[in-house]
Amino acid sequence: LGNGDDAKGLPRYARVNLIKGTRERALSIYREEGYEVAVDEHIPNLLIFPRGTDLHGHETVERGEVILQDKSSCMAAEAISPRPNWLVLDACAAPGNKTTHLASILSSKGSTRRPCVLAVDRDEKRFQTLKDRVRNAGAEDLVQCTRTDFLSIDPAKKPFCDVRAIVLDPSCSGSGLLNRVSVSKSSDQEHVKRLDKLARVQKLLLKHALSFPNVVVVSYSTCSIHKEENEMVVASVLGDDVVVSGSWGLSRALPQWKNRGLEHTFDESQMCIRTDPGLDNTNGFFLAKFERAQPTPGRVL
Ligand code: SAM
Repeated sequence: LGNGDDAKGLPRYARVNLIKGTRERALSIYREEGYEVAVDEHIPNLLIFPRGTDLHGHETVERGEVILQDKSSCMAAEAISPRPNWLVLDACAAPGNKTTHLASILSSKGSTRRPCVLAVDRDEKRFQTLKDRVRNAGAEDLVQCTRTDFLSIDPAKKPFCDVRAIVLDPSCSGSGLLNRVSVSKSSDQEHVKRLDKLARVQKLLLKHALSFPNVVVVSYSTCSIHKEENEMVVASVLGDDVVVSGSWGLSRALPQWKNRGLEHTFDESQMCIRTDPGLDNTNGFFLAKFERAQPTPGRVL
């Protein structure tokens, strides 16, 4: 999910993979072939086509020069904005939209670190897709894929102790995905129980991400519209003693984006972003950007 394929009401988004091509080259190919195409105003290398444009099987997609990816899904890597030689961990990576986006950004910034992205997922089938997508993106030397449970990773061990930024995009209800909005058939009670269960795991994963010794930025995102998986998770984790003592706070994610976190949920909700499936021409999405106030003393990476 995240490639917007089944979301009928959305434009077709296609992200230029800077490992294999350039925006200008992609634009000239599409324009020569008569496609109507524009560049997104928020995500620098994201192209927009009118809804219904079918790029499946197009040579640019087959060659991995562009990746079909919904706009909201591009926001996590943009929010992290990794520095050139950072090691970045994608903690719930499959099928790899954000992983290949991180690799594209780092490669365009001239990163010489190999690997510069560690991609982790525990699901066997999705992990295979992740590896296929990384290969098709030409990112095999940039990304190291590991099939494991993120919670089982010891943050003190190499290479994880060297990680500077984490993208955490855990399993969620998917209630923001346009092809799923309003299709919930569960009772209110089942719905509340399900959200509670998801939120409990989301909090555990987020607290684990914030425990890595050299990490300075963490993005937490979901494709859910429910505050229980979004603002409430962030508020709860921010109040955790270990997180407070680790000097973590929120910074304003994607400052130019207007639609912010839900008001009256917690004091810093305006630091977070939301995308509204009805108004923002993309799937429903939530993102909070955690930053460590003080760099960890005594280590130069
Ligand atoms: N970030 C992906 C992308 O943009 O393509 C989508 C991630 S999807 C929303 C959530 C993923 O988290 C699933 O592939 C799931 O297998 C993985 N996951 C959930 N819990 C996990 C855990 N404890 N450790 C590792 N992976 C986990």
